[in-house]
Amino acid sequence: MIYSDFNGIKLSRLGFGCMRFATDPVTGEIDQKKVEAMFDLAIENGVNYFDTAYPYLGGKSEIAVAEALKKYPRDSYYLADKFPGHSLPGPVDNIALFNVSLNKCRTDHFDFYLLHNINEWSVKIYESDEYHIIPDILKLRDEGKIRHLGFSFHGGPELLEYVLDKYEGMFEFVQIQCNYLDWSLQNAKRKYEIITEHGLGVWVMEPCRGGKLAALSEENSSKLKAFRPEASDASYAFRFLQGLDNIKMVLSGMNELPQVEDNLNTFREYDPLTEEEQNALFEIAESLKRGVPCTQCRYCCAGCPMELDIPYLLECYNDYKYAATTTASVRIDGLTEDKRPSACIGCGQCAHACPQGIDVPAALAELAEMYASGPKWSVEAKPRHESILRDLASD
Ligand code: SF4
Ligand code: SF4
Repeated sequence: MIYSDFNGIKLSRLGFGCMRFATDPVTGEIDQKKVEAMFDLAIENGVNYFDTAYPYLGGKSEIAVAEALKKYPRDSYYLADKFPGHSLPGPVDNIALFNVSLNKCRTDHFDFYLLHNINEWSVKIYESDEYHIIPDILKLRDEGKIRHLGFSFHGGPELLEYVLDKYEGMFEFVQIQCNYLDWSLQNAKRKYEIITEHGLGVWVMEPCRGGKLAALSEENSSKLKAFRPEASDASYAFRFLQGLDNIKMVLSGMNELPQVEDNLNTFREYDPLTEEEQNALFEIAESLKRGVPCTQCRYCCAGCPMELDIPYLLECYNDYKYAATTTASVRIDGLTEDKRPSACIGCGQCAHACPQGIDVPAALAELAEMYASGPKWSVEAKPRHESILRDLASD
């Protein structure tokens, strides 16, 4: 196992993400035996970091993790959990909610604790005086119940700079979505640089983009097989990350034993990509994109009568075009109405200014449509609100 030295701690570079355990399709129950077999194999081979979160698998992940780890001494592994500020129904007793997680995890502290899912929309909740999240979390840290504090992040580079500048010294690490596709598609490269410039550690989630980079098309997969016929598609995604020095932790949401075995094999020793392999991956990444080739030059912005942040909106557009997840919708939620894609009046100034020849008004009209009809965080929030209120009432 490759290990990272993080502030004096030896962390396995491969961490166990606990969001994707296999569940029974009818009952929704987690296959606990399988979780335990996977954990045993991972621990036997040097994995010492387990990452869960309050909402994972409808609140059942924390319980399954505790059950699978109970036979191991508490100081033999690191446990990470997250505060669900992005899912709150309104201001709640934050300490009580933290204690719900502690109880479910059968522990008295979290080694690593993250503010979950900071983005352009949720940052307002995390910063709100009324919600009082940051002072409460810092109190828990002062009491030793949180050993290392970080946050997971789904916003853009500007917001990341803002958070790291404003809260300098508070956080030790930031968890971002980073893989060879999002390196350009979601600007992970810039986010990696910003975190590194601020002297914090980079934690990676979605190293295989929810499994998509682990199961490439035959055409793309054969390009990789030309280098190493036996290697899995996923191993290339992980080896890409091995080449980035400041990545201290790579979380893989493993749900099958062969996947654990393959990942352990990839992390057995340091084996970053060759230049040729990396170029092949970036070519594959380009072939996966379906959006517009915006370079973020901002030539279009000055002439926009609506003062829209066009490159920001086109980033959201590209994200939607790859897969309709809530990531782009929450970024648009974070904008006021007059800055959303529907505010574009179609004057065409931007298209004339764009050196890439992008038909911006058409892209923004399509984005407005995708935003209106695609998955929305707020719609999905209701069950989460109810479960938080239930947990707090029964605690
Ligand atoms: S077409 Fe839309 S985005 Fe482009 S300049 Fe006009 S209002 Fe702004
Ligand atoms: S001018 Fe074109 S490439 Fe430059 S930021 Fe605007 S849309 Fe993107």
